[in-house]
Amino acid sequence: MPKILLVEDDPKITLSLVDSLTESGYTVLAFNRGAAVLGSLLHSEPDLILLDLGLPDMEGATVLSMVRAVSAVPVIVITARRNEEQIVRLLDLGADDYVAKPFTMVQLGARIRAVLRRTGSAVPQSIDVGEVNIDTKLRRASLAGRLLDLRPREYQLLLTLATSQGQVLTSTEVASRIWGDDVPGADGRLDALLSILRSKMGESATNPVYLHRVRGMGIRLAAPE
Ligand code: CA
Repeated sequence: MPKILLVEDDPKITLSLVDSLTESGYTVLAFNRGAAVLGSLLHSEPDLILLDLGLPDMEGATVLSMVRAVSAVPVIVITARRNEEQIVRLLDLGADDYVAKPFTMVQLGARIRAVLRRTGSAVPQSIDVGEVNIDTKLRRASLAGRLLDLRPREYQLLLTLATSQGQVLTSTEVASRIWGDDVPGADGRLDALLSILRSKMGESATNPVYLHRVRGMGIRLAAPE
């Protein structure tokens, strides 16, 4: 699952970006200050940085130069207005692309995919696990050719597990990808979500087919043998 480091100080924009990006299959780490980026960049190794230029503590161009001094990670800058001179300067400083506010998620999504395609870390358009197929572009999933009627969180759970198919993901890991970090009661919510997803896929905790709880470890999605 490609990891995006988002640097944006507007909480409303952050919330909506985190929501739609996670729903599109990305893991998102959000920061509201430029100074936090460098430290995180080194240990989290993101696949892409989404950088708002209007940050309270530092100029976006400074953040970009600092990133470029230590990393070749792709950067898409978010500018408040379409200022050609500024955009040219940022591209010269090493930005890979830009979006100007207000932008649509459709446009940003396409730009992210294009940049990630170039670096070879895009979310695959289609993921198969046995007879489960996930179409990440249309955000829908089917089982044995039958479309599953999934709500966004259920789809996100299935996608999260499918991108690491065969591996056990801890409940904390899965919950944080669905609701973000530090959500109280995430374990209980995850259990409830898992049980809905199971019933929509025609299986249950006592009769698992694709969705397996591994005691004391987490959850695993795997094709039946
Ligand atoms: Ca801002």
